[in-house]
Amino acid sequence: MLTAPLQRLIDDLKKLPGIGARSAERIAFHLLKAGKPEAISLSEAIRDIKEKIRPCSRCYNLADGELCEVCTDSRRDESQIFVVEQPKDVIALEATGVIRGVYHVLMGHIAPLDGVEPSDLTIAALIERCKQPEVREIILATNPNLEGDATALHITELLSGVDVRVTRPARGLAPGSQLEYANRSMLEEALRGRSEF
Ligand SMILES: [Zn+2]
Repeated sequence: MLTAPLQRLIDDLKKLPGIGARSAERIAFHLLKAGKPEAISLSEAIRDIKEKIRPCSRCYNLADGELCEVCTDSRRDESQIFVVEQPKDVIALEATGVIRGVYHVLMGHIAPLDGVEPSDLTIAALIERCKQPEVREIILATNPNLEGDATALHITELLSGVDVRVTRPARGLAPGSQLEYANRSMLEEALRGRSEF
């Protein structure tokens, strides 16, 4: 019934998180009816995130150049590195306005059962950063769950010979929760109560 191009769009939309068959059809028909500029703008926005966004060469946060916005900001406190699992954690932490330091994005957590080994993450680059003289504290803000804890522990062991303070935010964040859902007051409390790890 549907023409091949329309069917292809519906099939692609259905692969997106939270989009079922009915939503996919509704969006596809909306775009079919929409003005050409609106539809083309959407397709270009999708292409741009794939072509222009890349990992920051220092911290692996999302960047549209060599360095991300945080790393290019000279007002940030480079003595303090917040270690997080995903770029979306940086977005969540930045939204709270609490963080003065810089970040390091691991690009996941250690999960041997899912085939994710330490070498699949950006841990080696983090250890090298920690050896820079200006770095004084590493705050392991991985998610407060089993994988996040295991990843934090692994990093702590690797940093045992490096002269930096290694801390973990207090459990103001409920165990098993996701960092990206933390709000400002929760986060401030968790950071105030951070302890050596
Ligand atoms: Zn960066």
